Amino acid sequence: MSFSLESNFTTATIFPWKLVKCKEAIVDGKIVPYHLFFCPTNRCNANCRWCGCKNVDRKQELPLEECFRIFSYFRSLGTKAVTITGGGEPTLMKGFDSLLSFGHDLGLKFGLVTNGILWNKGNDILEANKYLTWSRISVTDTESENYNFSILENVPRRLPGVDIGISFVVTKNVNIESAKKVSEIAEKTKNITHARFVDDYIGGIGDKMKLVIESCEKISNKLIFQERINLEKGEKECFESRLRPFLAPDGLIYPCGCVQIALGLEENFLCFPHQFSMGHWSKFDQAPIFDGSKCSKCFYSNYNKTLKKLMNPMIHEEFI
Ligand code: SF4
Ligand code: SF4
Repeated sequence: MSFSLESNFTTATIFPWKLVKCKEAIVDGKIVPYHLFFCPTNRCNANCRWCGCKNVDRKQELPLEECFRIFSYFRSLGTKAVTITGGGEPTLMKGFDSLLSFGHDLGLKFGLVTNGILWNKGNDILEANKYLTWSRISVTDTESENYNFSILENVPRRLPGVDIGISFVVTKNVNIESAKKVSEIAEKTKNITHARFVDDYIGGIGDKMKLVIESCEKISNKLIFQERINLEKGEKECFESRLRPFLAPDGLIYPCGCVQIALGLEENFLCFPHQFSMGHWSKFDQAPIFDGSKCSKCFYSNYNKTLKKLMNPMIHEEFI
């Protein structure tokens, strides 16, 4: 049986097979916030040129106690999985391990998007190894020779029980030697499940993805090449906002993890736009389904179209 890297490790722009297989995402006709995207801090120790959150308030961070209350609240609503992501770099948060341990005791599963910089210091197995299902390391410089590749070797070694992905943004000025090196590290490292080469949707990439594919595809069969150029407009009924809400460090819920670009790609929009907020996290249960017709670009149209179909009643259901 073949294993699809895209269906297992990515969600933007793909058909959501995991959702179709999930029996608990819709209960009594109501969508459960099954998977929470949680951004506890906007602080960051990197400065990626393509950062989609360039204009967030870099000082904003949720207090740890409030994070605990958030996890308890969403668990009570049926949340099963939490992806801890940016905004900023989550591992900078004081008490990050206790955040994972608290959620783990509640029965939550965790994924983590990190640049890995902080965890490159030291040799011991990280506490997070006990709690994470997966972690994706974002390469913070894909255009010069200066990236510290030891991060991609040390962090997987310090998280031996965790499935590790690598995210490599392909820009107009991509460094092909770096792309090849990432492919080689993915190939030789047992717990690296995949390396994802993804387009720079802000700056554009010209024909550089083609070049990356030609240079790397033979190095490993763990590579995903993901293009997000031809994005559709948002659906009026954004069911995604109920299934996979995004909680930012301002304590507000946003309908998805790509609202920073939903108004367009202009430099001044690269933050969580308040006009897209669905209100304070503690009132999420009462928030209506978000109106996505104001989104000019949407990564998750396939989720919305599929959820709409799954919400519609059917007759003669046995006749599959
Ligand atoms: S590590 Fe992430 S949050 Fe920090 S600058 Fe890079 S893309 Fe932005
Ligand atoms: S871009 Fe808009 S329509 Fe698409 S998932 Fe996000 S909020 Fe919903």
